[in-house]
Formats: sequence, C-alpha cells, structure tokens
Amino acid sequence: MSFEAFLGRQPLARYAQIAHSATPRDVESALGRPTIDFDAFLALLSPAAATYLEPMARRAQEITRVRFGRVIQMYAPLYVSNVCSNGCLYCGFNRSNAVRRTTLRFDQAEGEAAILHARGFRSLLLVSGEAPQAVSVAYFEALVRRLHGLFPSLSLEIYPLETEEYARLVEAGVDGLTLYQETYDRALYARVHPFGRKADYGWRLAGPERGAAAGMRRVGIGALLGLGPWREEAVALALHALWLQQEHWQTQVCVSFPRLRRATGGFVPPFPVDDPSLVQLACALRLLLPDAGLVLSTREAPAFRDGLAQICLTHMSAGSCTEPGGYAHPGEAEGQFSVEDARPAAEVAARLLSLGLEPVWKDWDAAFVGEAFLAGAPGAVPASSARKEAPCG
Ligand code: SF4
Repeated sequence: MSFEAFLGRQPLARYAQIAHSATPRDVESALGRPTIDFDAFLALLSPAAATYLEPMARRAQEITRVRFGRVIQMYAPLYVSNVCSNGCLYCGFNRSNAVRRTTLRFDQAEGEAAILHARGFRSLLLVSGEAPQAVSVAYFEALVRRLHGLFPSLSLEIYPLETEEYARLVEAGVDGLTLYQETYDRALYARVHPFGRKADYGWRLAGPERGAAAGMRRVGIGALLGLGPWREEAVALALHALWLQQEHWQTQVCVSFPRLRRATGGFVPPFPVDDPSLVQLACALRLLLPDAGLVLSTREAPAFRDGLAQICLTHMSAGSCTEPGGYAHPGEAEGQFSVEDARPAAEVAARLLSLGLEPVWKDWDAAFVGEAFLAGAPGAVPASSARKEAPCG
C-alpha cells in the first residue's frame, strides 16, 4: 500500500481533535510513559503541552544524546538553477515572478562547490526548481559524477522523479533525497500550487517512497510551516515519517522544519508559526521518532538555531546562499528566500563547539558499504543490509 492510500485511511479529523483538545493531565500522562506512541505524540502537540516545553525539551535532549551523541552534521545547499515551471504561490522562483533566471554550467557549479569545499563542507545538497528542460536527470547525473570525488555525501532537493531516475542518480553517487510535501492538506495544496507538474499532489507525495525504493540512504520530508495549521500538518508529517520508517527500514528518515520566509511575490503565511510552537513541534517529533534526523536550515535566526541544536537537531546548513552562482558571484541571480542566519559556516561551527556540540563535516563514505570493505570486516554483512547502519548524514 502506498503512503497516499495509507493516509487516506487514517482518522485525521480525530487525530487533529486530540492534538487540539488534550488536557494537562493527558500531557503529563504522555510524558510519564517510557516511550512515546502516536496517542502520546498527539497530546504533546496540544495547546496544553505548550506549558510543558521544558520537560519536553529535556527528554528530547536526552534521547538525542543517546541516539546521536553531540554531533551536528553540517551541510550546504548548492542552488544550480532557479528556472521553474511551477506556480507555488509562496516561492520566489514561481514561474510568474519576473526574476533573473540562471542555470549553472558544470564549470560554474564546480566553482561553487570548490568554494564550499574550501569552507570545510563535505556534504552538499543540490537544489533546483522544476525545470527538466534546463536541469534534466542527465544533468544531475553528470554533475554528481563530477562532484563525487570531493563530496562523499551528495543529496538532492529537486523536482520528483521516477524510481528508475532516482536509481540512476544513486548509481552516480547521490545518497540522499529531500522532498517536502509543503502541505498535506489536499485542498490547500491545490490552492497554493495552481499550475505546473507540482499541482499533482499524489505524484509529489509518493516521491520519498520512490527515492527510498531506488536505494537512497537518506530521505528527508517536511511541511512548509505557515501554509496550514501546524498541528494538522504535524499529524500527517509524523504519519509519513513512521510509514517510511516501517516500509523502507533501510533508509534513514529525516524531518526538516522549513518555516515560510519573505520571498519575491510578497506571499504572506496564512498560519504563521511562532518560535515556541516550532520548539514544541520539534520536541514532540523527537520523542515520537528517536531515530529520525532532525534538520534546521538558515531560514531560522542564529539564536533560535543555536538553542534547538542543543535540544534535538542532528543536521544544520550554514553559510547558505539561495541564489544559483551566489557563492562566487553574490547578487547576480534571484535567491529563493532570504536567510535569517547569515553567519559564515566557520562561525556557526565555532558556536556549536562553544555549546559543547560537535560539528561534523564528513560522516559518510560510499566505501563503508563497498563489498571490498565489508568482505574484510568481522561479521561482514552484505552491502544492502548495511545501509541502515550508516548514520544519517
Ligand atoms: S517551491 Fe520549488 S517548485 Fe515551487 S516555484 Fe519554488 S522552485 Fe519551483
């Protein structure tokens, strides 16, 4: 059964009602359990739980330390194109916006990557709009092969692909996929995605499972916070993560918290999410999903990122630029959104160290699951079985 079919069978209205109406007693009962099941998670999303942020954060921190230590994986986005055929109302790259469009040639992309490599990054997230005519699967395949020698971890945040296309990119060296559903509310989804391939809700929703089926080591999901009521989105997002963990156990599931930012077009988030609510959501998800990577980008302000990093994060971007070519030539193309944490990567890393955390630039090498490596390892297991053992990076 696909996740879309599974989601369609869930009593979402009842879940949302619990997430809105749980009492302080329900919250205390949830926090008193040795493990957080889905009912307890719903209670932790409630307005009543907002006054229990401290115990939630303490427990989220304990779980994170046990599962991940003090490690924060560092990564950087590399925007290769801001050409897009979609009409997402909230995005600066929306086809209707009159912005300067750029697609990087390979030498330009390699120049951007070299800058990020010099800053210490060994994990890159390749980002583009939906423009297969400008950035085709063959484009990414060739670019990944060029970059793979310098970057052991290469992930994609691009338009959804077929399973076979993801498999081609895995073969080329891609190990991770990020694909936000933006909103799990079908009617809202249709309103904010009025045209283009992205208007197809089901095609996008099934993207993460296609990526996992194709052999992605890591799949990241998320809802664009501010588009719809956050508790309803959190319910569906959590179900999505649980379903992926169960159906694709060899793939590490990561959850991101992209909060809507100012972008070209002047879209105003209809359901703004404040800082305490975002902390509540992140803590509740950590308690429900002890093994999930939790990711926070430079969309958020420095103090907020530093605070959440100490509680439950596992992955952070740093020194990010959201315009194609912007690391080498800032200001020559349009960015997707304005970043709030503009600190250089080295400054973010130094801050994490000062907080007792350990920024890690490389945690993965494909050789870890190579047959030659495993053949020599005590208790060797087949490469396909080893994938789950690798930490999320
Ligand atoms: S969110 Fe992505 S698909 Fe939508 S307009 Fe922006 S770049 Fe294009």
